[in-house]
Amino acid sequence: MSLFRRGFADGDRLEVAGAVVTLKVNRRARRVSLRLDRTRRQIIATAPSLRRLGEAADFAHDRAGWIAERLAELPEAAPLSPGMTLEVFGEPVVLDAGSGRARWIEADAWGPARIIAMGEGEGFTRAVILQLRKRAMAVLAERTAVYAAMLGATPPKVTITDTKSRWGSCRAGIRGGPGSIRYSWRLALAPFEVADYVAAHECAHLLEQNHGPRFWAHVRALVGDERRHRAWLRDHGARLHAFGR
Ligand SMILES: [Zn+2]
Repeated sequence: MSLFRRGFADGDRLEVAGAVVTLKVNRRARRVSLRLDRTRRQIIATAPSLRRLGEAADFAHDRAGWIAERLAELPEAAPLSPGMTLEVFGEPVVLDAGSGRARWIEADAWGPARIIAMGEGEGFTRAVILQLRKRAMAVLAERTAVYAAMLGATPPKVTITDTKSRWGSCRAGIRGGPGSIRYSWRLALAPFEVADYVAAHECAHLLEQNHGPRFWAHVRALVGDERRHRAWLRDHGARLHAFGR
């Protein structure tokens, strides 16, 4: 413990063992603690008060070994390059270098689908991700329309985002008006059934804004037992979030 310590602010970031450590005040916390935020690939050091943030920072430095181990367990970030094959909604898609506008070529008798994009490194990755976002929009908007209709809900507005912590979110419509559903484009990297489950889950929120028994009854009526899909997202979420970063 150091006697003279500069004041820390909520949200301050430190570097420990090559990792970003973000300091957070949580008034409901009873003690200082560390946890791994898998999707952001960083450590959160929590303190019960602003005054004790310095203690949380010291704790992070003391536990540098633990932090290094947690980060080493995370899946590698996957940069994208020509020649790679991705699984998009469970179907292979080959990445190809080519000139002209970036584009998606559907699978045909000669081979799997392809994404053609120019450049290399970050430019290539960005162009591929844009194609994946478009694909995510097409597939998820279609599944959303199907499930909203099955539930008798007004078709919601669908948008695609890159949220770090959620696969989808739903805002129900007011007085019978259309609601809105947002999906992470990274669902395109999940098997189709998993992404389809997320669409059913968000559509069920158009009717029930909670996770109570009535909500789950709607989900199961649409896609059956949801537990294996939730387990898949839990087990593979960090890899999907590391993708292309
Ligand atoms: Zn939910």
